Amino acid sequence: MPKKPASSSRKKFLAKVRRRLEEMKEKILAEMDQANRSEREGLKDEGMDTYDLASEERDREISFILSDRERAKIGAIDDALERLGDGTYGVCESCGLEIGEERLEALPFTRLCRDCQQDLEREARTQRRSEDERGVYRKFGSTEADEENT
Ligand SMILES: [Zn+2]
Repeated sequence: MPKKPASSSRKKFLAKVRRRLEEMKEKILAEMDQANRSEREGLKDEGMDTYDLASEERDREISFILSDRERAKIGAIDDALERLGDGTYGVCESCGLEIGEERLEALPFTRLCRDCQQDLEREARTQRRSEDERGVYRKFGSTEADEENT
């Protein structure tokens, strides 16, 4: 493992982040499970006999019932957990420096340090301005970059 060892306080902090992310995920899944259950009970009251499903099938239903927003959130959590696992979590993707713990507390899914984020936002603003000036002359090819910024 060639990567430099994290300090023990950083390790402690990352362990805390991991617990927090796992709790967040569990909470979302539990809420979805709850919503799924009450929906099924509602169906049962109406006399539908579809409640007796195999648990495997029920699990599928739970993931089916997840809204896009919750799915995106779980995706972000899984992604962060994966990065915690391979040691890239909390390291800025742009400059490679450790992201401040305060920032990670506030934005646990961030991939950029404060400086790089600000640079990016400034760049996006400049880009938007020049695109406005170009107006109708915008090329179709630029929509891909637009999607990444939203
Ligand atoms: Zn950075």
